[in-house]
Amino acid sequence: MTNHTKNIAILGSTGSIGTQTLAVIKDNSHLFRAFLLTAHSNADLLISQAIEFRPEYAIICDESKYAQVKTALAHLPVKVLAGHQAVIDTITHPDITVVLTAMVGFAGLEPTIAAIKAGKDIALANKETLVVAGDIITSLAKQHGIKIFPVDSEHSAIFQCLAGEEANKIEKIILTASGGPFRGRSLDFLADVTREDALKHPNWVMGAKITIDSASLMNKGLEVIEAKWLFDVEADQIEVIVHPQSIVHSLVQFNDGSIKAQLGLPDMKLPIQYALTYPNRIPTSYKRFNFTDYPTLTFEKPDFDTFRNLSLAYAALKKGGNMPCIINAANEVAVAGFLNRSVGFLTMSNVIEECMQHINYIEQPTLTDYLNTDKETRIFAQNLIQQMPIKAVQF
Ligand code: NDP
Ligand code: MG
Repeated sequence: MTNHTKNIAILGSTGSIGTQTLAVIKDNSHLFRAFLLTAHSNADLLISQAIEFRPEYAIICDESKYAQVKTALAHLPVKVLAGHQAVIDTITHPDITVVLTAMVGFAGLEPTIAAIKAGKDIALANKETLVVAGDIITSLAKQHGIKIFPVDSEHSAIFQCLAGEEANKIEKIILTASGGPFRGRSLDFLADVTREDALKHPNWVMGAKITIDSASLMNKGLEVIEAKWLFDVEADQIEVIVHPQSIVHSLVQFNDGSIKAQLGLPDMKLPIQYALTYPNRIPTSYKRFNFTDYPTLTFEKPDFDTFRNLSLAYAALKKGGNMPCIINAANEVAVAGFLNRSVGFLTMSNVIEECMQHINYIEQPTLTDYLNTDKETRIFAQNLIQQMPIKAVQF
């Protein structure tokens, strides 16, 4: 390790973003070291990653897997810890340069806050953190003088378009969406789709939760909220456009009317790497985009009536307060229900809407309010699913 090596902590190293981050680190071991790896319960993969990358820490959140990981790594100088609290405590380690948040869902919030308070820059993949508590995260980031580098491909595209434009006013952000596997489908069709249908994303291979979110367009809704906080724009300055080829990763329109876009083949390693090397670019051997392979790039309006989650996310953003936290928690419960076949595809939006109507609205929530809102919404959504008539939820 040289003085120039960045020590990377990867929250969620065993997931889709986590493993691709390790691939970037491996390709650039002169620049990066995997300093801390965490998994939820995939002990086998965490062990093999720790054997290969020799991090300072390997943390398994599921405490019942501690003995397995500890024993397997006993011959190595890797410190093995277990539990969610261990992640929060260790993420502040003085040797960590940047924390890449690649765990899924609300679980990312507290470790991200701990990292920011310890002065760590954040490479943010875990969009749920900004959806839930964007106001707290962005003000803490200012207060502690840290940077948040977007990993999400659309937000990385915008971030790349904004390089050198710091003094210029954004008129509009245009987020592209692939439209997912059900683009162009009717409500009747969606009523009967299965988890297998929804897990077939046309352009990206990702974790299960975000893949379902992409099929329901909730992923784009969450990204609209993420964009508000990352780029300090309002809901009416964020437009979503469906672009099925996923080549134009997003666009920014400035106040002179000029539009800048970032293009490339869909490959998350590029935005991951840019978040770690910003403001520099480093060479890669990734496959290059060629216009003649894609003679037709198309763009269409999203169908807000069929994909109601996108409308609900905009409504939550406009309402503000703890409403985005409510839709996030309701959506996590609904998606888990869809994945275990206890909730139908369209019912997911009903669960979210019910939660938006019934959970106590708080205009200026504190962190404790967000934690409580998350808990309260999960319980409410879970009860709602249990009370639903079998026919409404199963297929
Ligand atoms: P995966 O499901 O593939 O991986 C999630 C990771 O988080 C795994 O390491 C998992 O551990 C860990 N994890 C899951 N639940 C918990 C928990 N409760 N506590 C601690 N750790 C947990 O997800 P992705 O990599 O696809 O996505 C990660 C984040 O990045 C999400 O927020 C997603 O929205 C965002 N993102 C992903 C993109 C992609 O291409 N995949 C693109 C843009 C954003 P284990 O393996 O042990 O279960
Ligand atoms: Mg994205």
